[in-house]
Formats: sequence, structure tokens, C-alpha cells
Amino acid sequence: MGERKTGVDAVYEEVRARFPAGPPADTTPPVPVPVAPGIRVVALRTPTLPPALHTNVYLVGPDRGPVAVVDPGSPYPDQQAALEQILAPGGVAAVLLTHHHGDHIGGAVALAARFSAPIVAHPQTAALLAGVVDVTTCLDAGESQHGVVAVHTPGHAAGHLCFEAGGATIAGDMVAGLGTILIDPDEGDMAVYIASLEHLLTRPAGAILPAHGPMITDGHAKLREYLAHRRMREERVLGALTAAPQALADLVATAYADTNPAMWRIAERSLLAHLMKLAGEGRAQDTGDGRWSRYSARG
Ligand SMILES: [Zn+2]
Repeated sequence: MGERKTGVDAVYEEVRARFPAGPPADTTPPVPVPVAPGIRVVALRTPTLPPALHTNVYLVGPDRGPVAVVDPGSPYPDQQAALEQILAPGGVAAVLLTHHHGDHIGGAVALAARFSAPIVAHPQTAALLAGVVDVTTCLDAGESQHGVVAVHTPGHAAGHLCFEAGGATIAGDMVAGLGTILIDPDEGDMAVYIASLEHLLTRPAGAILPAHGPMITDGHAKLREYLAHRRMREERVLGALTAAPQALADLVATAYADTNPAMWRIAERSLLAHLMKLAGEGRAQDTGDGRWSRYSARG
């Protein structure tokens, strides 16, 4: 895929370029591991956000029968071939996508073609992927298909779905077992993301099966931790704002002083997402030249 990347994919690429080249690619073939009743995981190498290097592909269904494959995100031929080999005996009933980002959809078209399987996603994901991936079946909040129930959880991406199955929640990029979740204001919305975390707390989350990193046994505890973390960050962003307008690069140094400066470029995107939420609540204001100040009634 040689096309210019945009949005989150572009930020991921920029952050990867700032990290020194990692160890040579692991050549051990990926192996499926059971994680919940009727769910196995295969971690495939993907162009994702460091420190994560893989996207978890979840296989929902019987060990020896056709399965629903969630987020076959690897664009790399060796990883796609390994996944096809794992799936060949039982076949593929459907390819399910949590959302439209490159590290979740990179192998979807090839896999669907190889097994003549439909590609299933939220209607907004289908629209965002128009011309890239042909989503054949739309799935909306509360609907179930291929053994999963869809929960609409926008915020990281508009059409983001979580899939409940086997007493667990396949969480896509709502929660990470390794690294962080980026809310990029071009594609995401901090207020909406926080509302989606709260919505997941009303569901029987069970274990959370994230797209990156290991499974999280106590899903609700992790969701509460995420909510507390975002509230803490919001307080720091508010604390960094002054009556005098400041540029994002200055605000990030204060509000994200606890974060590795190599990550400040990505933190700036998150900072902006927080500022836009605060502006919506009348607590921060954009001076129109890319600088931000505390809200002042005189505007
Ligand atoms: Zn994503």
C-alpha cells in the first residue's frame, strides 16, 4: 500500500519513525492461543503504534469449524500466509472489523477473498473504508452475527464496535493491554470516547480482549482505571491553561510532563482532543491562531 496515510495511521507512522529500529522481525510462526470459551487469539505483526508491534486477531468459533475472524490487520504477506494456514482446516465464516484503522484492516481484503467470506463492520466504518475495503454486511449496536454481539463504542473512531462473545469483550482500540489509546481529533472525539468507556461499564465486560497486548482479566477495573486516567489528564490540561494563550507545543510540555518527550508529538493530538472537549464545555477557548487559553467570558 503506497498511498499517503492520513489521520491516526499517519501519526502512528510518524511515531514509529522516531523510535530506533527494533530487533529483527520474529520469524517464529504465530500460534493461536485460547483466551475465552470459543475464542482464540493470534498476534500478527502490524504497522501499529509503538511500543505495540502486533495486532491481536481473534478467532470466534469452534477449533475445527468455520470461525469469525476479528481484525486481520497485518499487511505483511508472511503474516497473512501464517494466518491462512491456521484457518485453512476450518474455514472462515466472516471477517469482522472493529474499526477502519490500517493496523486492523490490512489483511481483511486478502483473507475475505481467500475464503469467500463476507466483511462485516459498522455502517460508519463501511463509509470510511469506501474504495479501500468493500464491507459487504453492516452491523449496528445490539445486533448479533457469527456468534458475537456488537456494542457501538465511538470515540477512538466513529464506527468503532466492540464484540461480546464467550463472556468476554473483544475491545479493539477502546482499551490497550500494551501502550496507549490515541484519541486523534481528526478522527476521534474525547468526550464521545469517555462516554463509550462509561457505556462499556454498564455491560458485563468480563475479560477484555484488546487489539494490542495481553488480555485484561478484570475488564471493569481496567475501564475504571482508564476513566480515572483521562480525568487526571483533563485536570492537568486545565491546570496548564492560563489567561494568556499558549501554543500546543508549550501546553504539552506542562500537561504531559510525565510523558516521554519522544511521544509529545502524539500527546499533542490527545491534548487537542482534551482541549476541544473542554471548549465544548465552556472551560477552554481557542484564540483562532492555534493557541489556547482558559475560558474567559469576555471571549
Ligand atoms: Zn485504531
